[in-house]
Amino acid sequence: MGRRFDLVVIGGGSGGIATARRAAGHGAKVALIERDRIGGTCVNRGCVPKKVMWHAASVAETIEDARDYGFDVEAKGFDWARLRAAREAYLERLNGIYHRGLDASGVTEIAGTARFVDAHTVEVNGERLEGNHVLIATGSRPEVPDVAGAELGITSDGFFELTRQPRRVVVIGGGYIAVELAGLLDSLGSEVSLLLRGETLLTRFDASLRDTLMEEMQKHGISILTSVRLQGVERDGDALALCIGSGERVTGYDTVIWATGRKPNTEGLNLEGTGVRTNERGEIVVDGYQNTNVPNVYAVGDVTGRLPLTPVAIAAGRRLADRVFGGKPESRLDYANVPTVVFSHPPIGTVGMTEEEARELYGEAGVKVYQTRFTPMYHALTRRRVPTVMKLVTIGEREKIVGCHVIGLFADEIIQGFAVAVKMGATKSDFDNTVAIHPTSAEEFVTMR
Ligand SMILES: Cc1cc2nc3c(=O)[nH]c(=O)nc-3n(C[C@H](O)[C@H](O)[C@H](O)COP(=O)(O)OP(=O)(O)OC[C@H]3O[C@@H](n4cnc5c(N)ncnc54)[C@H](O)[C@@H]3O)c2cc1C
Repeated sequence: MGRRFDLVVIGGGSGGIATARRAAGHGAKVALIERDRIGGTCVNRGCVPKKVMWHAASVAETIEDARDYGFDVEAKGFDWARLRAAREAYLERLNGIYHRGLDASGVTEIAGTARFVDAHTVEVNGERLEGNHVLIATGSRPEVPDVAGAELGITSDGFFELTRQPRRVVVIGGGYIAVELAGLLDSLGSEVSLLLRGETLLTRFDASLRDTLMEEMQKHGISILTSVRLQGVERDGDALALCIGSGERVTGYDTVIWATGRKPNTEGLNLEGTGVRTNERGEIVVDGYQNTNVPNVYAVGDVTGRLPLTPVAIAAGRRLADRVFGGKPESRLDYANVPTVVFSHPPIGTVGMTEEEARELYGEAGVKVYQTRFTPMYHALTRRRVPTVMKLVTIGEREKIVGCHVIGLFADEIIQGFAVAVKMGATKSDFDNTVAIHPTSAEEFVTMR
């Protein structure tokens, strides 16, 4: 028999670390197994390096605007390699913080690839660990379409490894990762195309957000190709060419980025040996309490396919640990009204239902929408005029707010507070009764007529 733990966690990303530390805090003996750098996707290949790049792109925009505020400055160059080195140093510091945090919590960290022997036995580096409880928090990885020449492109993982700035790049996909990468590359000076399978990007977002973003991206010089049937990628001398439609070729790219979705990391775990059920996408099927169909085996985060966001993985994991080890039998994550931000240019903040969803659910008469579009004061002085658009979706006579959407400067910071209000069930009159903070963009949310 191998070492025995109260909880064995597979995966040292957002969900795994949060669960392990919370469980250890409740006195559980916990092992956490990670095969790569600690911190998972978010820290190493996701939220954090992405946000660093977004900040860099925002600095480029600020330099562009600076002359309009009277400064005699111009960007004399941009050193991609220098930014990358600073970013990597920051990530290494974060890796260290995570290692020390696990250690301080008393979690036994094991570097290696885990594989189930049976539902309660996990093998790593040839050693068998017995877990009274086992958590699968193995996350997800980029999915590349099965087309000819797919290997000529890179994914978001490859994007963070680039040692040089792409000069002419095409991003394939319309999800949030695609628009974020396209936006930041454009602001940093690359020539960017965005290739969509459908008519629009961010299909699950409110129309006011996606239409405004599409307009702004195009205005800033991003070429958006819609309704494209991509057949493959091929070399064209030194460049890369996309084969689209029926025999057409678009060429001249130095970099092709696939941002066409993600798939769960379930292969190689020997889930077959446990009886844990997955769906047709390979995602682990869990109930509202993160239970799989096998007793005392749980899953959180991207591997479940439910709202793949870091704070969701963390919140679900902590609640699970509170339930199993912390004496809170009803503890579980409520997945409704989870706010989210897209770090596009301009950024998007959103919580709750889109107008379309609300109308479908409550009918035309049951829904009232408030919307505004304005130029934020910052842009009153700049040649770059970037609008802000806000929308409140309300239902019923009390005008309960079920959707709150914003695109524009500072949307990323504005939405969190309004998400609290929506989660609490605020009505339009609650918003109206809140005195505005002037002069801000956020005040428009409480002054809409
Ligand atoms: C480009 C990009 C940008 C993103 N931006 C944001 C953002 O701005 N905000 C946000 O909230 N979310 C963002 N996300 C999503 C976020 O990163 C994920 O939702 C989050 O990391 C999921 O956490 P997790 O614990 O489920 O999985 P992960 O963080 O992926 O961790 C899983 C870990 O399990 C390990 N593992 C897998 N299999 C095994 C095995 N067999 N043995 C041992 N270890 C194993 C992996 O190496 C990995 O470290 C972004 C993602 C990407 C790709």
